[in-house]
Amino acid sequence: MEPKERIAQLMQLLDEANHQYYVLDDPRMPDYEYDRLLRELEELERQYPQYASPLSPTQRVGGKALEQFEEVTHAVPLESLQDVFSPEELREFVLKTEEGVTEAVFCVEPKVDGLSVALEYIDGKFFRGATRGDGRVGEDVTENLKTIRSIPMVLEGAPRRLIVRGEVYMSKKTFEKLNAQREEQGKPLFANPRNAAAGSLRQLDPKIAAQRQLDILVFNLQLAEGKSFSTHGETLDYLRSLRFPVIPHVLCRDAGQVWDAVVQIDADRYALPYDIDGAVIKLDSLADRTILGSTAKFPRWAAAYKYPPEIKSTVVRDIVVQVGRTGVLTPKAVVEPVRLAGTTVTNATLHNQDFIVQKDIRIGDTVRIRKAGEIIPEILEVEFDKRPEGAVAYHLPDKCPMCGADVVRDDDGAFLRCTGASCPAQLARNIAHFVSRDAMDIEGLGSSIVEGLIKLGHLSSPADIYYLTQEDIQGLWKSGTTAAKKLLSAIEASKGQDLGRLIYGLGIRQVGAKAGKALASAFGTMDALMSASLEDLTALPDIGEITARNILEWFSQSQSQTLIGRLREAGVNFTSTQEITDTRFAGKTFVLTGALTRFTRDEATAQIERFGGKAAGSVSKKTSFVVAGENAGSKLKKANELGIPVLTEEEFLQMIQE
Ligand code: AMP
Repeated sequence: MEPKERIAQLMQLLDEANHQYYVLDDPRMPDYEYDRLLRELEELERQYPQYASPLSPTQRVGGKALEQFEEVTHAVPLESLQDVFSPEELREFVLKTEEGVTEAVFCVEPKVDGLSVALEYIDGKFFRGATRGDGRVGEDVTENLKTIRSIPMVLEGAPRRLIVRGEVYMSKKTFEKLNAQREEQGKPLFANPRNAAAGSLRQLDPKIAAQRQLDILVFNLQLAEGKSFSTHGETLDYLRSLRFPVIPHVLCRDAGQVWDAVVQIDADRYALPYDIDGAVIKLDSLADRTILGSTAKFPRWAAAYKYPPEIKSTVVRDIVVQVGRTGVLTPKAVVEPVRLAGTTVTNATLHNQDFIVQKDIRIGDTVRIRKAGEIIPEILEVEFDKRPEGAVAYHLPDKCPMCGADVVRDDDGAFLRCTGASCPAQLARNIAHFVSRDAMDIEGLGSSIVEGLIKLGHLSSPADIYYLTQEDIQGLWKSGTTAAKKLLSAIEASKGQDLGRLIYGLGIRQVGAKAGKALASAFGTMDALMSASLEDLTALPDIGEITARNILEWFSQSQSQTLIGRLREAGVNFTSTQEITDTRFAGKTFVLTGALTRFTRDEATAQIERFGGKAAGSVSKKTSFVVAGENAGSKLKKANELGIPVLTEEEFLQMIQE
């Protein structure tokens, strides 16, 4: 077979397999076979790029990232729907609609909670897809839509131009997986599948959109050039024949049947793989739709019935606190198991202390609970009349339940955060930060290696990195000793990194790479920084009061002191090696004498030199200053004799920090 023909054949076979898998939920082709054919197609497309189609199944993993989305004016506007909230309002809508037409048939469909898009096909090929936007103008998200496997790229026997409307959603399962993953990575969670779907579809990078595994249900034929249909139901059947994933629908002949269908969808909703927030009731006859027309906002021939969220009562058995990877303490209510929105709920998040105080939730309370976005259990309110006697107000602990370090209020005031430099809950993240490129820049300590070392018990604080032995690490790679040696030498080399990087690597809240540098160049040594006061810190242009307090709080923790001590012992550089343009000590000679408490001799010398001064070993007439520590002896005496100014260690520190 000619390459061109084989490419066309493979595209068709793979499209068919995609349709069976993603639309019909009835996979026929074994995964192995699918992968083999896909690889063959990829190979042929590489060899014969002139035959490669942008609509090929190989192109559905996400192409190049965009700078921005282009605007698209919808050929047929994407209208909104009028809402009805009660059975009475629904009945009224049905009766009013029946009045306007001779014989009314209604279509009832689930209202998928995602976001609306229009898909446009030209000559049977997927041409463009856009979000709803304001209904008239939306954003071109074609590349992201291509990654949704259930959307056909090629339509057999379609008219020249065809536009369909559908709802892009994220399945409940994918949503839960995504949030679990984000929690693991310390990223903010999506509140519900709709937000997650919206965030994913509006990604400029289609590769990210592809990972999010979005799906779609098509619910309206917007335009099909040269085709005519008499009912909505017919258009849905037609779309199904074109291999679109189509919304399920039931036909009803009166208000009673409509109500039954709405109730049935509600009863089945939790078993659906996607979230719904209501049912849509539409007039089936397309001619009658035209007669009724639209108001400025929505069509008169359709309405959305919104289901009230399911609410149950249960009892708070306990309140437990979890420490996340970012150190945030999250309280959780452990509740008496209760069946809610399709699953058994055993706990509900309490968010933070303010939430607990605001709702006055106590252990033993009976609470009303529902699922936010139909997924995440949430306490609405306490039934105070059922409060048991003796129930006491709950306060989050002021020590971290994982490591015992102090807990501080986060900068935005809502969250409590553990300050432990070696808190096991935050360890992997802290270490990843410590070795990251802008910090100590240790190549080869990727997250899986770090996790492995933590599991083996070789890492319980960032300082442990400098105590790793070849034996500890070589089992982690297939290539064993070579990789281990390389890593050890990268670790060794990192000991000489500038102080600014080390300060940043400590992971003090709000101390970024820039602040790390500024602190290093202002204080010169780790010890000078450690003894800095609030005023010393806030005197720096880059350091605000909150950051300054974070720094003081961090250094005051015993875990931090231990960490610093072990880094020092390992020989990690504690002095700033940054280029300094400040030459305040130019032409000045210093002599150090006695025991200094804030600096080692080398560090003090380094400080003098970085400001352009000289450090000398003995006092002479040329000496500008003598820095006298405790128990200073003959050098101090000589300085006094020669009338040379003598500085205390404190005064010397001030000269450096000024
Ligand atoms: P609302 O956003 O509350 O005005 O509801 C209208 C939206 O419901 C539309 O923009 C669609 O995105 C969405 N929708 C979900 N499922 C359906 C459906 N079966 N028929 C019509 N609209 C639907």
